[in-house]
Amino acid sequence: MQQPVIAYFSMEITLDPEMPTYSGGLGVLSGDTVRSAADAKMPMVAVTLLPRRGYFHQVLDADGWQSEQPVTWDVGGWLTELAPRVTVTIENRPVRLRAWRFEVEGHSHSTVPVFLLDSDLPENAEVDRALTQSLYGGDQRYRLCQEVVLGIGGIRMLRALGYSQLARFHMNEGHAALLTLELLEERRRASGRSDIIQEDLEEVRRQCVFTTHTPVAAGHDRFPLEMAVSILGERPELQDSGVFSCEGQLNMTYLAMHLSHYVNGVAKRHRDVSREMFATRSIDAITNGVNAERWTCPAIQELLDRYIAGWREDNFSLRYAIMIPDDDVRAAHALARQALFRHVQHAAGVLLSPSAMTIGFARRATAYKRPTLLFHDLDRLRSLAADVGPLQIVFGGKAHPRDPEGKQLIHQIVETGKSLRGIIEVVYLPNYDIETALLLTSGVDLWLNTPQPPQEASGTSGMKAALNGVPSLSVLDGWWIEGCLEGVTGWSIGTDHGMAHLATTQEHANSLYDKLEESILPTFFRSPAKFAEIMRHAIAINGSFFNTQRMVQQYALKAWLM
Ligand SMILES: *Cc1c(COP(=O)(O)O)cnc(C)c1O
Repeated sequence: MQQPVIAYFSMEITLDPEMPTYSGGLGVLSGDTVRSAADAKMPMVAVTLLPRRGYFHQVLDADGWQSEQPVTWDVGGWLTELAPRVTVTIENRPVRLRAWRFEVEGHSHSTVPVFLLDSDLPENAEVDRALTQSLYGGDQRYRLCQEVVLGIGGIRMLRALGYSQLARFHMNEGHAALLTLELLEERRRASGRSDIIQEDLEEVRRQCVFTTHTPVAAGHDRFPLEMAVSILGERPELQDSGVFSCEGQLNMTYLAMHLSHYVNGVAKRHRDVSREMFATRSIDAITNGVNAERWTCPAIQELLDRYIAGWREDNFSLRYAIMIPDDDVRAAHALARQALFRHVQHAAGVLLSPSAMTIGFARRATAYKRPTLLFHDLDRLRSLAADVGPLQIVFGGKAHPRDPEGKQLIHQIVETGKSLRGIIEVVYLPNYDIETALLLTSGVDLWLNTPQPPQEASGTSGMKAALNGVPSLSVLDGWWIEGCLEGVTGWSIGTDHGMAHLATTQEHANSLYDKLEESILPTFFRSPAKFAEIMRHAIAINGSFFNTQRMVQQYALKAWLM
């Protein structure tokens, strides 16, 4: 294989279900990207941190209150320690870093190496040894130090490992934005100049690519300039507002944007929202995807193997799912459903009913995702279940340890579930991770998504469901604006008012119940052939497109190999 030319940086990357190197959607996306890059034999290396204590293991008590337990794992059993050491300076202290290697294997044994940076070395001060330990833990200072390790340490480590031909540096979210400072510093040092000149900026821009992942303001890292100076040291360029800082702050999104030749949002609507947010036209869209092989359950894989030879190597061919007979689609889904029911019984002690429609909802428990929208009018929900068809609901998702509102939502779901007992079974599956995500997105009958627009940049769990023939019922936000063909691939909640109008929660709740009552439940219970057709469409129309094979090709075409 040729020397790698693309260096992909991400704070979290999902590598294996047994390795707690991710917290949620961003890590899953990075993991799927790297794996699809390996499939496509892209000349790529990836850089991330080594979170020895993981994100956290979620435990729920009987009332649905979350507590967090650290995860321990056998780092040396999974990763290979590498010899080089590099040093970054943090608060004037030298911090030594090592890297561990993991190989992500694609089809035909092509691989992308992933380097996990680790500050837990005996020569470091105690505070510095803990820097790479937890993902999204600690305070703002801790976060900025982690970003020094990822961005600056990452570039230094790649150089120490001998990667000299890298031509593209992809910042997956702003966490890695400090790599731009290091690339500038490399040029300054090589030229022997004492400051950075315009030509350096242009050259670094040519090399950098940035993907922004959220329109939620709090999701963009910003640090007071004084903090940046105290951690990074005096860097004259930081005072240059307009490129490096903005309103007295080091804003990682601005920094990454200003120093990249290609910037994108993760769905078309997210592009439009980001253009407004940052007052610029120069943001493109590459809609997210998921790795089709990783996100199909065994029963669906077996079905696809039977009807679509070569679908793993060529995801476009999933369009031929349109020809799979109803009975076979249903039989495969029945197996996926059994696997989910077994897991629910084991993990939550609840026996689900094979004759009810199972609705799935799992994502980070946080206010804007509105996990309780389905419970907006409990009387209406009860009467739907009684009059139109029996329902059961499986929830999952962790709240960030410092998000009391998110924790409250989980509690509220569990409490509401108690009040519905005997009429609608409600289960909250603890410790949502990539294994339960696959069981859920393949084993339920309907995937529910209710964020407050326009806050969901893309969302990917509905894409996983689609690949498994599970239709979505979703607010028109993120990827669903592109993926929803009403009554064909699934159903919308409310209408799309563009960016101007915000529908109220009441309107969305009414629409949700209307769709269940008038379309979804009647089709599910009374027109199974029609429902099987929608399942087929989900795979053929959405599975064939919303995958990382297509996504990686677009990145190559638009950003990496240009
Ligand atoms: C897919 C996935 C996510 C992201 O799902 P969204 O729909 O984007 O919220 C988060 N966590 C896990 C474990 C996942 O598998």
